[in-house]
This record gives sequence, C-alpha cells and structure tokens, in this order.
Amino acid sequence: MMYENYVGGEWIESESGETFDVRNPADTAEVVGTYQASTRADAERAIGAAVDAQDEWAGTPAPERGRVLRATSEALADREDEITETLVREEGKTRSEAAGEVGRAVDVFAYYGEKARDLGGTAKAPSGRNATLRTRREPLGTVGLITPWNYPIAIPAWKLAPALATGNTVVIKPATAAPNVTRQVFECLDGAGLPDGVANYVTGSGSEVGAALAEDERIDGVSFTGSTSVGTRVARTASSDMKRVQCEMGGKNPTVVMPSADLDRAVEIVGVGAFGTTGQSCTACSRAIVHEAVYDEFVDAIAEYAESLTVGPGLEDPDMGPHVSRSELDATLEYVDVARADGATLETGGAELEGDEYDDGHFVEPTVFSDVESRMRIAQEEVFGPVLVVMKASDFGDAVEVANDVDYGLSASIVTRDLSEANRFIEAAEAGVVKVNEKTTGVELHVPFGGYKDSSTNTYREQGDAGLDFFTTTKTVYVD
Ligand code: NAD
Repeated sequence: MMYENYVGGEWIESESGETFDVRNPADTAEVVGTYQASTRADAERAIGAAVDAQDEWAGTPAPERGRVLRATSEALADREDEITETLVREEGKTRSEAAGEVGRAVDVFAYYGEKARDLGGTAKAPSGRNATLRTRREPLGTVGLITPWNYPIAIPAWKLAPALATGNTVVIKPATAAPNVTRQVFECLDGAGLPDGVANYVTGSGSEVGAALAEDERIDGVSFTGSTSVGTRVARTASSDMKRVQCEMGGKNPTVVMPSADLDRAVEIVGVGAFGTTGQSCTACSRAIVHEAVYDEFVDAIAEYAESLTVGPGLEDPDMGPHVSRSELDATLEYVDVARADGATLETGGAELEGDEYDDGHFVEPTVFSDVESRMRIAQEEVFGPVLVVMKASDFGDAVEVANDVDYGLSASIVTRDLSEANRFIEAAEAGVVKVNEKTTGVELHVPFGGYKDSSTNTYREQGDAGLDFFTTTKTVYVD
C-alpha cells in the first residue's frame, strides 16, 4: 500500500516521484507500507501551507480548537485495535506494549483537548486604580516537529496536541522506520474537522525533510525527539536564526538496588525496565547499580529473569519483540563485542536468535553483563537494545556516584526500603525523572517529562501543563 503526505488538507505525492518501503521487523518479507521519499521542496510547500493557515487557527477560539482534539481522540479510540496492529507490524512492539502506546495517544489528545478551555492568561492586581494588568498566552506560530521511531504515535501525539491546542500550525516529520501510525493520527485529525493547512505530515529522510524544518526561516520553533547526536545538530541549526528549540534525546538510565530492597521486586523493576520494548526506550534501564551485599544474588536472579523471557513476533504478544531494524540489531551486537573486549562478563544472551521462527526477523537475546566498570563504553553509551549491565557499588554514596557518572540524565530509580536513602537519592540523582521502587520506564501524561545533561536541551519540558509552555509566548497587557 502506498501512502501520501498530508499537506494543506490534501493527501499528495512527493514532487520527487520517489518512495521508500517499511518492512515488518518480525517478518521482513512483509512490506508494511510504501511512503513518500520527500524532498526539501515538499517540506517547504508544507511549511507554506502551515504559515498560510496560522492566523486563522490562532484566531479560532481555544475551546473550538480543543473540540477538534477531543474528536480526534474519539476517532483514535474507535480505531484503537487497527492502529495497535499497524504499530506492531511496523515497529515491532508486542501487542500489549502497542495497545498501551495507542491508548496513551488517545488520552493525550483528550487531555490537551480539555486543557484548551483553560488557556487564558492570568490577571494580576495593578498598582494604579481602575487599571487592568494581565497576561495573554499566544501561539508561537508555525512549528516543526521531528520524531523518532520508538514511540511513533505517543511522541507525535504529545507534540501535536499541545501545539494545536495553543493555536500553532505544524509540519511533522516522522521517523522513516515507522511513519504509519502518525499518518493514521492525521486521518483522525482530518475527520475531526481540522482546517486545511493547520497540521501537515511529510515523510522522508532527516537530512532532507528534518533539516529543512530546522533551517527554514518561516518556522518559529522546532520540537525534536531522537538521539543526542542528531538533536545536538538540530539545536545548533535551529537556534542559529533564533528559533525556539526543544530537544529530548538519549538516556543511559540507572536503577540502584540497595540491600534493604525486596530482591524479587528489584529484579522485576530492573528486568521490565531493561527488556520491555526490547530495550528501545529512551528511559530504558541499561545500568543496574547493585550494593555489594546483594550483588551476586542479584546477578544470578536477573540472568535467570532474562532467560525466562519469551521472544517472538509482537502479534503473538511475547515478553519481548524484535529490534526495529537490521541496523539497530547490528548495533546491539557490536556493543556486545565491545563489552566483552573491555572485560565485562557475559552472564546471558548476547546473540542474535536463530531458528525457523526467528529467521525472518530482527530478534536478539535479552542480554546481561556483570563485572562492568563505569569507564567501559558499555556503561557510558546508549545501546538502545535489550542489554543490561550490572555494576557493583560499595555503599550508597558510591552507588549515587556511579549512577551520575554518565553524560546522560533522563530517568533514574532506586529500589530500597530505607526512606532516608530514597530521599537522598531523589535529591542527588542527576536526572529529569526520579523514581523510588519503580522502573525507569513509563511516564504519566499530566506531569512534566524531560532530561538533564545531554538528554535534553533542558529549556522546556514536555507533557502536562509544562507541555504548553514551549508552544506559547506570553504577552503582558496593561489597560488604563
Ligand atoms: P534519530 O536521532 O536517529 O532520529 C530522530 C528523528 O530525527 C527522525 O525523524 C530522523 O529522521 C530525524 N533526523 C535525522 N537526521 C536529521 C537531521 N540532520 N536534521 C533533522 N532531523 C533529522 O533517533 P531515532 O533512532 O529515531 O530514535 C531513537 C533515539 O531517540 C534514541 O537515542 C532515544 O533515546 C531517543 N528518544 C528520546 C526520547 C526522549 O523523550 N528523551 C524519547 C524517545 C526516543
């Protein structure tokens, strides 16, 4: 099936006449969709449509904008099973993981649909008599949204919904590995009565379409989620002409396990955090930092946990699906070699899965390394696969030091029954999200989300009320 771009309210082909295929990562013989290999000219046309639609959309009463978002949420909910299946076939998540992600997109559109009613500014007591002093929240303008493949409907939703609620017009470029579920969101927006040009969808490479969004002077802001290397480049380009920029990027997230922890619970928290979504979450737990008193016991238990996981096609709803692509699988296997060469001990996994049921897909074993030291590359770099390293800490202070000893700072958790330790960890962890007795993955939609250090530009947060701030600017009004 060939899919088109959505520009100015119409489904159209790229001027390039070129397309690219996306294959099912669990069965690479299946082409899931064929998409437009768009060019810079396609992106520029979409930006033009968004700029033309901006004044009218900004002038549309916010509750009416919210109505469109709530209708979009309802349309997504009506198609939940179909979209879930598309997501599994395209990106490889298990059916349960995909259903959770689609459900999140439904909720995000409903949430910002409601928020639109509360978008007025604030009134303040003026110093002079009979005067009015207040603020207005105004849209930023036309924004470019650049999204990754690993949450291909939730992340577009949590950028599109607040951007549209606040009166911006947008052009989105989804990742090439998984553009279909974002396209389905656009079908729902269209059906919900979104005016032509307000939201535009253009598929294609980062170097053509993504770069055009970061560079074009008509774009007022760029909201990017993806790797730190690409995000850093996007931030530099976009800020060179004073665009507002928000980049949410990679992670190397720790879970600290202290002796007071219930060990079974700690294993579950680390295991789900590390191997859920095949380790392909920015918040995945990739480092377990374990107190020496329970280290050996923990290593045995987490290796046993990894070996107990079922791996297979997402449609069969196993514990773990495939990697999204051959190149991501190869990158994971390369990191296995690097870790071994650096002296880490492979406890379990480390290989591509073979045999009839695996031969057509990108399947890898859940992998655990022990004897890992902080200086090793496997403890420092984002693998983005189901690879967990277990590191030994001599005491709480050492554990915190190791936890913070990376360039990233997205999510961090601790498993402990000691309240004082929990509180000290909350203060000391260099991460935008800190959790106690919880896995590093999983975020609520109504609280801010974002990282510290190289995980984020750390200017604006996404989600919740904070998610509105990036897309708005404040005007202060004095009336006498
Ligand atoms: P990526 O950086 O390769 O790509 C992200 C997006 O940027 C894609 O749409 C891509 O086409 C585009 N792009 C590539 N080159 C570009 C360029 N020169 N100019 C503009 N756009 C360009 O990331 P990915 O592989 O799709 O996703 C995985 C990464 O995303 C991981 O590092 C993960 O940690 C991160 N991530 C972060 C969060 C978060 O909220 N912090 C959430 C999900 C994923």
